[in-house]
Amino acid sequence: MPEMPTVAACAVAEAGLLTRREFPEPDHPYRSPFQRDRGRIIHSRAFRRLAGKTQVFTERNSDHFRSRLTHTMEVAQIARTIARALGLNEDLTEALALVHDIGHPPFGHAGERALDDALRQYGLRFDHNLHALRIVEYFESRYLDHRGLNLTLAVREGIVKHSRDYKTEDHPELAHYFLDLRPPLEAQLIDLADEIAYLTADLDDGVEAEILTVGQIRDGVRLFERFFTPLESQHPDAPEKLLFQEALKRMVNALADDLITATATKVRALGIVDLDGIRRAPERLAAFSPEMEGLRREAKEFLYRNLYLCEDLRRGHEHAAEVIADLFRVWMADPALLPSNYVFQVATEGAPRVIADYIAGMTDHFVAELHRSGGKISLVGQR
Ligand code: MG
Repeated sequence: MPEMPTVAACAVAEAGLLTRREFPEPDHPYRSPFQRDRGRIIHSRAFRRLAGKTQVFTERNSDHFRSRLTHTMEVAQIARTIARALGLNEDLTEALALVHDIGHPPFGHAGERALDDALRQYGLRFDHNLHALRIVEYFESRYLDHRGLNLTLAVREGIVKHSRDYKTEDHPELAHYFLDLRPPLEAQLIDLADEIAYLTADLDDGVEAEILTVGQIRDGVRLFERFFTPLESQHPDAPEKLLFQEALKRMVNALADDLITATATKVRALGIVDLDGIRRAPERLAAFSPEMEGLRREAKEFLYRNLYLCEDLRRGHEHAAEVIADLFRVWMADPALLPSNYVFQVATEGAPRVIADYIAGMTDHFVAELHRSGGKISLVGQR
């Protein structure tokens, strides 16, 4: 195996400020703080609900499509591999990957847009990172000694910053997450591992859904074609399905290899030797090489054009938007229809935010059932 460059000196340590919790707890005799966080995330109710949330296909017609849960496991697998190769904190990276989609509402991106549209009418926004933070800090209720999951500062910071930066002037409530500093590399990796996972998975699911064809992908995604052509000539009798899977697998590996090498090269080129250097760098340092970044963007644009915005999926997206807008309207008109623990919060948080919190936690199945019942909470099973 070729030697991979490491940046181990920049890893988040298993002690110190970043391992602090809001409610102090004694150390565990043999589990590190980030191993405990990983366990708490996996045991949370919000994590289990990821099984009932879709990513791309709001109307499922195959049991093989990714759910948010299986997507999350793929991201965790890829992120952990990259973290290990770079000598970073693998347990922290895994915890961050497992929690990265926990704030996503039902019905995938269509659901997120619909919730955001509903909230905008009241001067508010829906942001899945901030919602994820509310879940782990407040909504998860399973410990005698504290509210929420009481995760370490490193994991909470990573939840806030894994995919974007926030400014202190816009979000004073987030000031203790070092908003003017870059996040550690472990957090920076998550968004890119997420890209690697969903670019390849959505090509796979798109073919499974018979919306995309292998030929179309070969024509439109150079990074895929680069692996498919030689495989085809080496294995002229192999079924297309297997060549397709092999090419996708090589695509994942190529993206991960590039991310490892390009990130380490960038860190070294800037002479950065510790976490403080990562935090004070002028930009995020986890990145693909310029060539791979071009190929990644091409693959993503291909997916937008041919899958995410395609006619076949549009109907499902419109339905999702209608369902969410309808429920919002019903509960805004009569917040007393909400479950009692939510009604209770309306006085302090305001009805729009409480309704958005409630909807965001639902699975696709639950929100659809509720819509059929006209927003009457006669169902058991969710908060
Ligand atoms: Mg994701």
